[in-house]
Amino acid sequence: MSAESPGPKSGFKSFFSNALRPKKSRQTLRKGGSRSTTDLRQAVRPSLDDAPPMPDMAPLQVHRMKYQAQHANLDSQLGERQDYTTIIHSIGCLEMDDTTGPADIHDPNRKPGEGDIAKLSSRLWAHVAWYLDPASAASLAVSSSTLYHRLGPWYLQALEAPQNREYKMQFLIGMEISLPHHLLCFQCGRYHRRTQEGVERIRPAHVLNPLFKCPEVTNMLNPQARTRITHGRTLPFTFVQLATRAHKYGPQYGISVEDMGRRWQRDNWSHASRFFIHEGRLLMRVTSQTFAAAALPPASMRMLLFSREDYWPYFSACAHWRDGELMAVCKCALGHIPEPRDTGGLQGLEHKVKDRIAGQRFDPNSLTTLCGFCRPMRRCPECPSEYLTEVKLCEDKSDPRRLVFKQAIVVTRWTDLGDGSTPNCLQWGAINGKRDDFDSFQHYAKRGIASVFEAAFTADTLPGQRVLSMNPKKKKLGEAGDTWY
Ligand SMILES: [Zn+2]
Ligand SMILES: [Zn+2]
Ligand SMILES: [Zn+2]
Repeated sequence: MSAESPGPKSGFKSFFSNALRPKKSRQTLRKGGSRSTTDLRQAVRPSLDDAPPMPDMAPLQVHRMKYQAQHANLDSQLGERQDYTTIIHSIGCLEMDDTTGPADIHDPNRKPGEGDIAKLSSRLWAHVAWYLDPASAASLAVSSSTLYHRLGPWYLQALEAPQNREYKMQFLIGMEISLPHHLLCFQCGRYHRRTQEGVERIRPAHVLNPLFKCPEVTNMLNPQARTRITHGRTLPFTFVQLATRAHKYGPQYGISVEDMGRRWQRDNWSHASRFFIHEGRLLMRVTSQTFAAAALPPASMRMLLFSREDYWPYFSACAHWRDGELMAVCKCALGHIPEPRDTGGLQGLEHKVKDRIAGQRFDPNSLTTLCGFCRPMRRCPECPSEYLTEVKLCEDKSDPRRLVFKQAIVVTRWTDLGDGSTPNCLQWGAINGKRDDFDSFQHYAKRGIASVFEAAFTADTLPGQRVLSMNPKKKKLGEAGDTWY
């Protein structure tokens, strides 16, 4: 502020002096402010006490510190750590040594880990084994010679205890992959050399067909696990083992499922079996048929369906066949076979006239239609078995006249024989009535065994078959029940 300026001046002179006076802003920029006598600092800052406190750091530096704290010393461009202490610490934690990387089991040239195993003491390995079940502990002990020296023979000896039998079998099953020429025998709990390697065939039940030499073979108190296919035909569990092993590990481990199918005839019934592996489990289909006359009395129906030897049906059936409606379904289907008519004489003429009036032609070879009770497929609620009963026209090849077709009852059973690991497995146990914890309607809620099986062989699936329970009321009378006979 100029000293001349304060105070209003009147008159012409003062008007000009005010008009020509330089602007305030120019005055402040002028260097030195030479003519100013007023203390400018005093004018701007009247007192130091009223001023805001001075910050400890420049605002830019504060921002930089905050940024660094937030980004944990990572280089914003390269993402690298800028803190050397952290770098050295992380090297120690991650063990950047190439020789101790994770084991790549698919690498055939990987170095043996014996050195690493040997680094740990016997006491520590024993502590590791303590957490495992007897089968896994024994497997650990025999996995390498170093481990065997660390753990000793104790874990193998423990498997011989009678209460550890299940674990012993588990341990032996685990060795399957290294023994293609042997088969695990569940009677004596050891591997036997296959005596018919590659040419094992299912034979009738009365033919001795040992697949290995076993001291327990004649022990009637400890019989070999087998399931009944049809009357006079059984399937030893060893065949389920062979089929599933070949599927899992390769053809030298067993036999192919294509070679297992058979056709045979017995007691006027002809049977055909076929096998298929689905999701590691062996499925079997057995089709059994016999010619049946029309209007059979109940006694003849029994003669046709049941074997006189053991009072089991001639066709393939699970352990639960007596309970429920399976036999009633078969008898109902037999009742639908059309009766042949007397085409000669007066009665024949009468039939012909009646047919002509009704506008129909009698055909003794017409298709038989079953009713709502016997047509649907039946599923055993307690085991993986499905049954379908049909009445079909089949050629009788035993008739000397050519091309003679007769009505026949055809009973097909589809079943799941399990994964072949042990005779105690869920499916094998259930079909033989050894287990009661199987709910087939829960296991096959989405897709039945028959549907899975047939889809594998034919391009189009089975026509939508209704599946009903074989034993809807789940009554269990077994032999005591009289409805089956
Ligand atoms: Zn044996
Ligand atoms: Zn019917
Ligand atoms: Zn059953």
